[in-house]
Amino acid sequence: MTLRVYNTLTRKKEEFVPIEPGKVKMYVCGPTVYNYIHIGNGRPVIFFDVVRRYLESQKYEVTYITNFTDVDDKMIRKAEELAVTVPELAETFIQAFLDDVKTLGVHDATLNPRVTENIQEIIDFIAALVEKDFAYEARGDVYYRTSKFAEYGKLSNQNLEELQYGIRIEVDDRKESPQDFVLWKAAKPGEIFWDSPWGQGRPGWHIECSAMVRKYLGETIDIHGGGQDLTFPHHECEIAQTEAVTGHPMANYWMHNAFLNIDNEKMSKSLGNGILIRDLVKQIKPQVFRFFMLSAHYRNPLNFSDESLKQASNALERIQNAYDNLKHRLTTASATSEIESALTDRLAAIASQFDDKMNDDFNTPDAITAVFDLVAEANLYLQQERVNAAALQLFLDQLQAFDQTLGILSQQTDELLDEEIEQLIIERTESRKSKNWARADEIRDLLTEKGIFLEDTPQGIRWRRK
Ligand code: AMP
Ligand code: ZN
Repeated sequence: MTLRVYNTLTRKKEEFVPIEPGKVKMYVCGPTVYNYIHIGNGRPVIFFDVVRRYLESQKYEVTYITNFTDVDDKMIRKAEELAVTVPELAETFIQAFLDDVKTLGVHDATLNPRVTENIQEIIDFIAALVEKDFAYEARGDVYYRTSKFAEYGKLSNQNLEELQYGIRIEVDDRKESPQDFVLWKAAKPGEIFWDSPWGQGRPGWHIECSAMVRKYLGETIDIHGGGQDLTFPHHECEIAQTEAVTGHPMANYWMHNAFLNIDNEKMSKSLGNGILIRDLVKQIKPQVFRFFMLSAHYRNPLNFSDESLKQASNALERIQNAYDNLKHRLTTASATSEIESALTDRLAAIASQFDDKMNDDFNTPDAITAVFDLVAEANLYLQQERVNAAALQLFLDQLQAFDQTLGILSQQTDELLDEEIEQLIIERTESRKSKNWARADEIRDLLTEKGIFLEDTPQGIRWRRK
């Protein structure tokens, strides 16, 4: 089955065909770095990481770009509040963001471009819009002339007239029309600024992504992603800016994740129910949070509660236990290479079930069902007294392959636990009693390899680590 992706622009699932075979250019709007990220922000971060990992597992070479908005009104206000400069504020929260997403097992982006490193490109982009009459200057500000872009509203499926009702009419005589949005903002006294053809100022929010996408990925990209609140106005404005200048579609697939709620309520500052990622991971394993995020389809709302986390934790434990048990048994399994062909077939069927579900618009909850099918097979196999190393390895490889995409397993160190060592010593003593010298030697070799030394003493065998 080929990959199908739900495209917000066309409102249907479409077959995924990359612009260049074997390569995917992907851009996900990143945070404004004036605060620590909360668990809601974790949803796009984790989901699009899984999209990228899955594409990589399908042998695509993925260029994954996600930006930092390191200057805007919120940044300026917060810097004032904390009595630091805007760049100092940005540095603090960029580092915090990178630490938080690393904790969540998110792979590094190919690049994290910042607004302040792209001012010239942004100015050039705005200049091109002015040149084409898609933008106008008004007392040091520059606005986008939405009436000039006939397709404005196509992503959020509304026309300009409908949009008028949704917009708070501000008393702003600089704009020709309330739907027009700002591309460049004149600096107020004391604010951070850059020089431009329109005087001292800074970029509006939407323009940065148009400028960065074009600079780092090109005129048309494969996937553009973000949370569903970004559909309008942010992504609608990105489309208007880019397509007015290039004349080509900005992205072939627009993907948006639904929201995360807390105890069935919207997360909001006024409700005070926001939970920071860095606080959450003091209480639960980051893998449990990842698993929880992936337990719902990304286009469905997801409810965060003690109960749903507990369920995620229990479910994940079943997968982790199977994984640990497979690894544990492998340390002592007999080294045959024969595997029943029926077992190989069942595992292959489970693997393609996983891919089928991921290919169906990244249906992670159903893909996780395939992981549980594998766990059930593994547990059945582990009930046997005699297991062989090749079969155990096959289970482990498959589980690890799934985890390349999902990132939900904790890797244990290769070290043997004390009780495992003691168990092996007992087995070795018994093997010697029953004159099974081969097995006794095998255990001694394994222990030596793991840096465990045995000493025969009158009180019995003692062991120590190297
Ligand atoms: P913000 O810092 O609000 O601009 O959000 C950064 C990213 O997180 C955007 O892609 C938002 O759509 C997304 N986001 C914010 N809140 C939530 C939430 N409660 N659930 C899911 N995604 C969210
Ligand atoms: Zn953006």
